[in-house]
Amino acid sequence: MEQKTVLITGASRGIGAACARRFAGSGYRVALNYCRSEEAAQALAEELRLAGGTVELFQADMRDTGQVTHMVDNVLDKFCQLDILVCNAGIARQQLFTDISDQDWRDLFNVNVDGTFRCCRAVLPHFIHRKAGRIITLSSIWGITGGSCEVAYSATKAAIIGLTKALAKEVGPSGITVNCVAPGVIDTDMNGALTAEDLEALRLETPLERIGRPEDVAECVYFLASEGAGFLTGQVLSPNGGILI
Ligand code: NAP
Repeated sequence: MEQKTVLITGASRGIGAACARRFAGSGYRVALNYCRSEEAAQALAEELRLAGGTVELFQADMRDTGQVTHMVDNVLDKFCQLDILVCNAGIARQQLFTDISDQDWRDLFNVNVDGTFRCCRAVLPHFIHRKAGRIITLSSIWGITGGSCEVAYSATKAAIIGLTKALAKEVGPSGITVNCVAPGVIDTDMNGALTAEDLEALRLETPLERIGRPEDVAECVYFLASEGAGFLTGQVLSPNGGILI
C-alpha cells in the first residue's frame, strides 16, 4: 500500500502528539508542526524515528498566514504529497465574559479559527488537484453545548464546526472529506489549571467515570482519516465518555 502523509498542527504536545504517535505507528509519514515547544517536538520526532517512523518537523505559528503557507509548501517539497490535514493547534482561556478584552477575543479566534482556515486554504489546491484528501478539525464539547467562563473558547469551537460543515459541502465533489472531532475533558496541559477537585467533579459527571486521554482523541482522528471513513463528511465525532450525549 502507498505510504500516506499526514500534517498535524500543534503536534508538539497533548492531543497532537498522540495523533502523531498513532499515525506514525501505523506507517504514515508524519509532518509534525509545532510553534514554541521546539524541544518537545524534537524529542517526539526522535522517539518516532527510533520506532521506525518517517517524521519531519515544521515550525509555524498558526497566527501568521505567511508561516502557514510556507509550512505547507515545505511539507509538499519534502514529501511531494499530502493526504491528510489535522487542524489540531489550539489555545483556551478561562475567564468571566465581562473580563474578556478585545485582544483576548482576537487571540483565541486568531489561533483556533483563523489558524484552521489558513491551513485548510493552504492545502486545498493540492487536495483539489489530486481529487482526494482528508481534513480533520478539532472542536470541543464546549463548541456544541457552550461552556461557562469559556465563552470566547466555546465561540471559536462552534465556529470550527460551522467551517467543517460548510467546507465539507463545498469540497465534497472534489473527493475531499472534512470532519470534526469534538473531545470532552482530556488530560493535557490545556487543563493544567484545573484543580484535583475540579477534575474529580468532572470525572464523576462522566458516565464512563474517567477523564479522557489524548489517545482516545487520536483514535477518532485516525478513524476519520482511514479508508473506512470514506463516506463520512461534515460530521462531528465526540469522544467525551458520555459527559455530553
Ligand atoms: P495543549 O496540550 O495545550 O497543546 C496545544 C498545542 O497547540 C501545542 O502543540 C501548541 O504548540 C499548539 N499551538 C498553540 N498555539 C499555536 C500557534 N499559534 N501556532 C501553532 N501551534 C500552536 O492542548 P491539547 O489539549 O492537546 O489541545 C489540542 C486541541 O484539542 C486544541 O484545538 C483544543 O482546543 C482541543 N481540545 C482539547 C481538549 C482538552 O480537554 N484538552 C478538549 C476539547 C478540545 P507549541 O507548544 O509548540 O507552541
